[in-house]
Amino acid sequence: MYNSLGISNEVVKLVDKCEEECLEEFKKIDDACTFNSLKVLNSFHKNKVSEAHFGMTTGYGYNDIGRDVIEEVFKDVLGAESALVRSQFISGTHALTVCFQALLRPGDLLLSICGKPYDTLDEVIGIRENSSSLKSYGVKYDQIDLVDDDFDYEKVEEYIKNNKVKVVEIQRSKGYSTRKSLGLDKLGKVIKLIKNIDKDVIIMVDNCYCEFVSESEPLSVGADVIVGSLIKNLGGGIAPNGAYIAGRYDLVELCAERLTVPGCGKEVGPSLGINKQILQGLFMAPSVVASALKTAVLTSRVMEEIGYDVEPRYNEERVDIVQNIIFHNPEKLILFTRGIQEASPIDSNAVVEASDMPGYDSKVIMASGAFTQGSSIELSCDGPVREPYIAYMQGALTYPYGKLGLMHAVTKILNDK
Ligand SMILES: *Cc1c(COP(=O)(O)O)cnc(C)c1O
Repeated sequence: MYNSLGISNEVVKLVDKCEEECLEEFKKIDDACTFNSLKVLNSFHKNKVSEAHFGMTTGYGYNDIGRDVIEEVFKDVLGAESALVRSQFISGTHALTVCFQALLRPGDLLLSICGKPYDTLDEVIGIRENSSSLKSYGVKYDQIDLVDDDFDYEKVEEYIKNNKVKVVEIQRSKGYSTRKSLGLDKLGKVIKLIKNIDKDVIIMVDNCYCEFVSESEPLSVGADVIVGSLIKNLGGGIAPNGAYIAGRYDLVELCAERLTVPGCGKEVGPSLGINKQILQGLFMAPSVVASALKTAVLTSRVMEEIGYDVEPRYNEERVDIVQNIIFHNPEKLILFTRGIQEASPIDSNAVVEASDMPGYDSKVIMASGAFTQGSSIELSCDGPVREPYIAYMQGALTYPYGKLGLMHAVTKILNDK
């Protein structure tokens, strides 16, 4: 049967053996999944989620009880004082942009303490020229690089002592970099350090790809506001679009007034009939994240077994759902990415090519044969075509689909001599 999907017998044996070695990791993933499912279920009960919440509003979107209950549920699950969960956010980058614009005023200083933020924020911040950037509004920007995959605590301390910083941005997931993703222990330590010097600094965390990977979220270690996408972890593969901002009440209010209208804030914004999908997506999210994590662990073990560098290794602690495979070779990166596309449910006949993408500064290759355009909680694989030729693989709505995609891609790699 495997041969019908272009999977060789050799790869079936290889993956079976590797899977055995992953079982201990899978057990930990299942435990976190149960814990996070409990959080979701408790919140549904507490907020009395009912069929009435699946209704829709149009136009201004006044009195959208479904939208309001969704924001209460997200608030609880993320440990926030308030949450803004909207389909009017067209992407994670948009939600991050709204958050920056809501919190920063002309003359304010934004500091990133994980080096350069995610590529799509270059023009938002003004690292790359854009006439609508924060820089064009007089917002100043500076960054402190990580050292050995951890914060540069000394530099951060010195910088906060000597400068009036308004917002510190922390990106947990590695994005298109070679560093490790940042766990909550490190986040907690650096946030405490900053707040001890200046308690007014706003700590904003880009939480993309990290939700439900562990049993808690960054607000529990002192972050003030967190941001993420609904076509990643928390949408559970069911939310058709959107993003969230959650955290301190006053900050979420500012974000709402920036997204909609000063004076209207969270009161407006029609849900246009997607409330059920957002609720069902969140309900599924712990299990979908677990499937993505198991796929990542298995991928790591298998790719290491056939001689590639991987990050993280299969038995390392994970912060996000992203698995890096470092190919050191452009052809293998392209071949692997094509393999993932060919094993996808949608557009399996498409041959992916590296191309220029808005917001990215080198050619990018992307496999995303997804039900939702650009969804990266579904099995997907992408990477900028530049040294050291890293594939960033993530997702799978179910573990079997993830495993099959991996087996197909590995067969292609092994058949290419
Ligand atoms: C995906 C992602 C974003 C936002 O990406 P969108 O494609 O705009 O949703 C931002 N930061 C990180 C770390 C991400 O992984």
